[in-house]
Amino acid sequence: MSKDARFFIFLCALVLCAGPHAVGAETQLFRPSPQIPARTVLSSSQFYWYETANFVITNAPTAEMAREFGEAAEAYRRDLALLWTGEVMPNWSGKCSINATVGDYGANGDMTCSYYRGEVYGWKITVQGTRERILDSVLPHEISHTIFASYFRRPLPSWLDEGAATSVEHLSERTNYRRMLLEFVDPAIRRAIPFNRMVEMKTYPEDPKDFFPLYAQCNSVAEFLIGQGGNRRFFTFAKDGLDSNNWNAAVHKHYGYDNLGDLQVVWIRWVGEGFPDVASYEPVLVRNRRVQPIERNPIPVFEQIVAGL
Ligand SMILES: [Zn+2]
Repeated sequence: MSKDARFFIFLCALVLCAGPHAVGAETQLFRPSPQIPARTVLSSSQFYWYETANFVITNAPTAEMAREFGEAAEAYRRDLALLWTGEVMPNWSGKCSINATVGDYGANGDMTCSYYRGEVYGWKITVQGTRERILDSVLPHEISHTIFASYFRRPLPSWLDEGAATSVEHLSERTNYRRMLLEFVDPAIRRAIPFNRMVEMKTYPEDPKDFFPLYAQCNSVAEFLIGQGGNRRFFTFAKDGLDSNNWNAAVHKHYGYDNLGDLQVVWIRWVGEGFPDVASYEPVLVRNRRVQPIERNPIPVFEQIVAGL
């Protein structure tokens, strides 16, 4: 799969998302707006459009595919918001366009939006690839970005944003990230990013060859943390880290590691030992105080949605 194009698009997306934004705690997760009925239209260029409450699918090659993408986007928006936050997002005041290019291409996508005075708007998503990969990987990835942007209303550190988004892709894509990771953490290659630098990264690497290590590593770190505490704890950890800009304290509070360095050491050991059950890598502090069961399979959403289409 061609990842270069995806990473370049992500870089552009981050640039487009940069702008005035508000930072601070929200008293309400999301803000409501009116329901709008779905409809399908044929554009003059013979590509099909499909409108739902929050999305406008453009450029789909068939009416059926336009409907599939639109309904899948709404389903992901609902189910992924529940997965990450425990709440369903009210409708946006403006719809998100999804420009779909379907064919035998590498799976690519990007999401852009604008932040201004505590609001986020101007949603645009592009997706490219086979119908299957768009449905099971690119759409959930990009819509996960919209959920984090809707809640946090500020650009996120790249490791956090992409770690969360890649964690809801299809198993085949996540397996590719693991394969790449094993190459980059090899001592002969040494492309892994120290955690204290990783959490400070607000932009994407300038050198395209550094995109692969970033995506492989952020996916793995997110997978490790989500495996230990579930998606909701990961989301709360992100909020604390963003609000305080003290990731050492956030890691200690939510996962029990002394600091980022402690987490990095344990994560590297987990990777080196072949990704076994993450439970055996939890700090004693967390094991002793756990009050609720961990989500052992926290990413079932896309299988359910795709199966229902
Ligand atoms: Zn992304």
